[in-house]
Amino acid sequence: METLHRDKLSKHTTIRLGGIANKICFPKNIEQFQELLLSLPSKRFIIIGNGSNIAFRDGGYDGIVISLKKFNRDLILLDDKKIVVGAGVSCSKFSKFLHKNKISGFEFLHGIPGTIGGSMAMNAGAFKNSIWDKISKYKIINNDGNIKTFSRRQISTFYRKVNINRKSYFVEAEFLIDRTIKFQKKLILEYALKRKTSQPVNQFSSGCIFKNPNSKHSASYLIEKSGLKSTRIGGIYVSKKHSNYFINDGRGTCNDLEKLITFVKNRIKKEHNVSLDCEIHIFGNKK
Ligand SMILES: Cc1cc2nc3c(=O)[nH]c(=O)nc-3n(C[C@H](O)[C@H](O)[C@H](O)COP(=O)(O)OP(=O)(O)OC[C@H]3O[C@@H](n4cnc5c(N)ncnc54)[C@H](O)[C@@H]3O)c2cc1C
Repeated sequence: METLHRDKLSKHTTIRLGGIANKICFPKNIEQFQELLLSLPSKRFIIIGNGSNIAFRDGGYDGIVISLKKFNRDLILLDDKKIVVGAGVSCSKFSKFLHKNKISGFEFLHGIPGTIGGSMAMNAGAFKNSIWDKISKYKIINNDGNIKTFSRRQISTFYRKVNINRKSYFVEAEFLIDRTIKFQKKLILEYALKRKTSQPVNQFSSGCIFKNPNSKHSASYLIEKSGLKSTRIGGIYVSKKHSNYFINDGRGTCNDLEKLITFVKNRIKKEHNVSLDCEIHIFGNKK
């Protein structure tokens, strides 16, 4: 199994933040993942996907990071109605694969820079669709190396949150294909264009920093209303294009990010009496 020692965690997050990890392991298949989990009793570890919704602190991580971005990248079209997808498949690849096969309903996943497993953990979504709306079965592995398959109704899902046991990890999902949805050749391009015009897609970020607090106002609306666009602490600033995206200009630290998060949260609480909740997950040790 590929393993990196004393590697920079910033290389493994899209916002490019994080100190040094002692060890990063990249299991490729279920056997390697199982063996790895069984070798880790009582050791501190963390599972990540493509690192597009996380940041690590500047002091790094002294446990073991298990990256699933090279894990199970199988895409198996079972029949006309189902497709089985490995946790390491990228959302964009999955969406493009279906598009090539003239299957609609999954275009919203294109442009989400995460893995299927990470997106299941986050209940990722866009354009009024969420990943769990499409799943019929899912497979997990737990810390004891046991692998189990469950049906969709056995898991509770919420906006950007899923109730999975802390000691279990997604390894595969079965998605239902709805053949009644008409194939729209241009939908992927339309969504990509919408993203490009409204989001800073080519900069170092983790997507939305905060969850939307309610259906009335988005977090970006409140941040903008408070005049916080372009607010900067160190190398991290609020994007001009989309104020719920915080950008790392390349010199930012996780300390800057956490300070900016606190600053923005306090202002929104004071001015709108709304408590913003983070969508980004931050791990690791402070420096
Ligand atoms: C430019 C940009 C645009 C984005 N647009 C969107 C969007 O439109 N909609 C949206 O919802 N998000 C969006 N995001 C955020 C992010 O891409 C999603 O949350 C994505 O689903 C995270 O997947 P990941 O593989 O990167 O997970 P990571 O960020 O690596 O991990 C996220 C969390 O999931 C856990 N995790 C990862 N893999 C597993 C697994 N297999 N089993 C159990 N837990 C796991 C991790 O421990 C962590 O807590 C965007 C991010 C960026 C940078």
